[in-house]
Amino acid sequence: MLFSEASMKTSRVREDGLWIQVLRIWPEAPRRPALFLDRDGVINEDVGYLHRVDEVRLIPGAAEVIAEANRCGVPVVIVTNQGGIGLGYFGWEEFASVQKHLLALLHSRGAEVDAVFASPYHPRGRGNYAHPDHPTRKPRPGMLLAAEELLPIDLNASWMVGDHARDIEAGRNASLSGGVHVLTGHGSRDGQRETALSLAGEGFVVHAAASIAEAAEHLSILSKPT
Ligand SMILES: [Mg+2]
Repeated sequence: MLFSEASMKTSRVREDGLWIQVLRIWPEAPRRPALFLDRDGVINEDVGYLHRVDEVRLIPGAAEVIAEANRCGVPVVIVTNQGGIGLGYFGWEEFASVQKHLLALLHSRGAEVDAVFASPYHPRGRGNYAHPDHPTRKPRPGMLLAAEELLPIDLNASWMVGDHARDIEAGRNASLSGGVHVLTGHGSRDGQRETALSLAGEGFVVHAAASIAEAAEHLSILSKPT
């Protein structure tokens, strides 16, 4: 049974430290492909541990691709590693402010995000947020699996767009159809593209794109309105 309570729309930090925010409820909707998006370096410019509202800048095409997913009935889910929280660089309050601003910017361009998941863990994190390989931190698939529990998502038919190879790897670990690696953010750094492309294999496709705008061409889930 999928959640349908209005209370789900408020954000919360789950017992295991995972930030969960379901912004759109899909009562009784059949399971369908979703578009999973990394945040920093895919939707907005990666300024390095983004935590200030005045540093939020959308990457060209991000709002348009999200709006297209909206039109196609494809849930859009942000899955973001926020190790800066675990490292003590900023807290959930700053994250929440940045999120609120980012979602408002997207909304002003006709783009709606269905849900947001954020993992605060980091191998060098502090206290409870120190973990060498937390199940919710990409490349582990925990955030995508949590999304499947709360939204009508068919993981096997879903796609991931990311600038880090570990984003694509998280998609593979969640048994998605495929991933699109982009060169914005960290995408062009130290072997990220090569590593991302090497993750392709049986049942998992990896495409290369310059940015989220170009990634849309590889996302067949955006071509059929439902
Ligand atoms: Mg990124």
